[in-house]
Amino acid sequence: MPITGECFCGSIKYKVEGTIRDARSCHCSRCRKAFSSQASSYALVKPSDFVWMKGEELLTSYESQPGYGLRFCSRCGSTLCGTYKGSVHGITLGCLNGNPEIEVGYHIYVGSKASWEVIPEGVKAYIEGPPQND
Ligand SMILES: [Zn+2]
Ligand SMILES: [Zn+2]
Repeated sequence: MPITGECFCGSIKYKVEGTIRDARSCHCSRCRKAFSSQASSYALVKPSDFVWMKGEELLTSYESQPGYGLRFCSRCGSTLCGTYKGSVHGITLGCLNGNPEIEVGYHIYVGSKASWEVIPEGVKAYIEGPPQND
């Protein structure tokens, strides 16, 4: 069973023919705005494993820094994926369907979290970026 995801209005659907990896949550102020949430929840995907199944023409995108972008549903505003130099780099966990059999492994930039957010105890968290292997 491939991993599938879709936006809030259901106009855009995708599948991942493979696994997603390195799920993380970033609490920086940029991710809060981009994901309209307390943090981003995001996992990496191999670009060749990712397939748009429906509604690709409805995608709109925004590049926050040269090369790095996010793609959204132009109807409902869901953030579906991140791109690097035009190819899909990772997916937002919130738009996944069912159980993708992955959990958020660590939290980054918790030093910049929103004043109103409470980070649960016991999670692996870093004040700034992830440790060096990324
Ligand atoms: Zn939508
Ligand atoms: Zn961030």
